[in-house]
Amino acid sequence: MPKDRRLREELDFLQPFFLGPSGENDRWLEELIVEFVRDHAFWRRNFHPEDGHRITAAAAYRPDFLQAKARTRQALIRLSGELKQSVPIFHPRYVGHMSSDLLIPGLVARILTTLYNPNNVSEEAAPVTLTHELEAGRDLAAMFGFNVDPSVQPCAWGHLTSGGTLANYEALWNFRAVKFYAVALQEGVRRTALATGPVGPVGPLRKELAEYSKWELVNLSIGQTIGLRREIAEALRGQDPAVFTRFRRAVRRERIETAGIQEFFDRHPELRPPRVLVAASAHYSWEKGMKVMGLGTAQLVKVAVDDHMRLDPDHLDACLADAFESRTPVLGVVGVLGTTEFGTVDPIHEIIAARRRWNERGADFFVHVDAAWGGYLASVFRDPDGGCLPREEIRKDFRHFPSRMVYRAFTSVKHADSVTIDPHKLGFLPYAAGAFVARDREVVDFITQQAAYVFDLGDVEDEVPREQQLRNLGQYILEGSKPGAAAASMAVAHEVLPLHGEGLGRILRHTIRACEYFHESALEAAGRLEDRVRLIVPFEPDSNLVCLALNRNGNRSLARMNRFARRVFARMKVDADRPVQDARFIGSYTSLRREGGEDEQCGRILRELGIDPATFVAVPARPREEADHIFILRHTLMNPFLMDGPGERSYIDMYWDFLEDAIDAALAE
Ligand SMILES: *Cc1c(COP(=O)(O)O)cnc(C)c1O
Repeated sequence: MPKDRRLREELDFLQPFFLGPSGENDRWLEELIVEFVRDHAFWRRNFHPEDGHRITAAAAYRPDFLQAKARTRQALIRLSGELKQSVPIFHPRYVGHMSSDLLIPGLVARILTTLYNPNNVSEEAAPVTLTHELEAGRDLAAMFGFNVDPSVQPCAWGHLTSGGTLANYEALWNFRAVKFYAVALQEGVRRTALATGPVGPVGPLRKELAEYSKWELVNLSIGQTIGLRREIAEALRGQDPAVFTRFRRAVRRERIETAGIQEFFDRHPELRPPRVLVAASAHYSWEKGMKVMGLGTAQLVKVAVDDHMRLDPDHLDACLADAFESRTPVLGVVGVLGTTEFGTVDPIHEIIAARRRWNERGADFFVHVDAAWGGYLASVFRDPDGGCLPREEIRKDFRHFPSRMVYRAFTSVKHADSVTIDPHKLGFLPYAAGAFVARDREVVDFITQQAAYVFDLGDVEDEVPREQQLRNLGQYILEGSKPGAAAASMAVAHEVLPLHGEGLGRILRHTIRACEYFHESALEAAGRLEDRVRLIVPFEPDSNLVCLALNRNGNRSLARMNRFARRVFARMKVDADRPVQDARFIGSYTSLRREGGEDEQCGRILRELGIDPATFVAVPARPREEADHIFILRHTLMNPFLMDGPGERSYIDMYWDFLEDAIDAALAE
């Protein structure tokens, strides 16, 4: 692809932000690091300079000192040598997993802050970077369209986690705490024989707390449960403090977190343990989460996906009906905004619509959006004033993106209860940086380790402002000690490249254009290869991931096709037996399995590839036979320099040269 003026401008825009494929910006990076290491040393020196020095200048000449230095240097040289066998994820020849070059502002902020080593578990340990963390969380929430003005309810908040996995666990943890809270509250009221007066949602449902059925209580929304709790607190204000304390203790005793799952459901035989519904294409962290939470993977319902690997709304409805008709609470429905394997986007708007429909029938579930991969693409949809750009405006820059469906999905995230997003993926920041964003920060009252303030402080006037409370972060999150450097890194990255179409969104737009170009050139390559192989793009790309499937002409056996595709892939995989420098390109792969609830798509893909569907089996005859899955090449197109390259040709053009060579070599084997 020739580099026209427009592309040149885009590439120019990116250049200052990355170290670069050849370390082009090394001098600048070094300058920044040296500047701030020195600056840090000055800071140390100016803390009680009257104390003098503990490590004298002369000490550096002692033999033991010199030896320690030599040993340290030796160990670091060895490490640095070993690291040369790392995967070159920074390079545009790397199109494998979800990692790429890092933003210099974020990287330097991380290194610089690590010298101060703040611990964002609490304000006491990190007065500066805690502010960064809450600000960065607010930036993310605003990018998704949540309200972040504390004077308006609900007000969102977000915080950092080690990654998307932990953020997903937090969703389950938060949801469970709220879902079963009202049942405990009712028990507390019953045991202390308190009269509440009519409480709960406005409308026909509103009545004495004791009169609610348990089914009604586990089908309140998050907002309703928060409101209920607040109403009870108000109603009980002015009660005899001894009664109030008894009530509070009773509520705590009745909570699922205190009683444990088994005991809780033994006490409430009319309730069943809850289900969680996720798209069949969801990340495996949901399975881990169900185990960790003790909810059981058997309660994780995989909702089928459609022809485009997106959650199927009809099947979702069937799964919801199945749960609600058997009076099984649904803790949450998870939609994926950019699946890990295919980059496809679930119709979040359909999940929200389903909730509205079920609400009318007295059933509710919470909604979580797993946007670990695609979350940052929301910046493409924001204008610098924080407004949401119309689809037509965004489309000007692309051939296909965003499809009507993708646009609706992204603009519906603001109706979800919480979101997972990974700054260490499309945020171009160092590991470990994930984030959890909740639409309503009042939820923290349900998970705090401290006694809940509303019930503890008789007088609401004394209430510690929420902003202040959240600075005691460790009380409200799954993790404990955590790097303030990750928060500082995010805050600086957001300052330099704000989360809208003219900031980070500009870099992400560029990656989507690279993806569209990759997609188009895949179709051209398919034409060139027609006489030898069938090459298809199995799923229309929703974000910036493109998959390819290939079969040699005339072959109708799936096992043979998979073996062939693996031979092609062998030329683009990281292999311990050869130096990484030998790899022309590095990719990744995924598979579609018979068992994965993906039968529909599998049938279509096999037809397109000319494979006899009878050769696709659930259990292969021989253990190592490659007949129970479809092997697919997977390309993550997030590198900012993919559209650049030596001469007039881009790395994407070069990739197709490489792939054709790899195919010819595999054919000749
Ligand atoms: C990457 C990813 C995760 C897991 O995130 P980690 O940061 O690897 O823990 C979860 N969900 C989706 C959709 C992902 O892409």
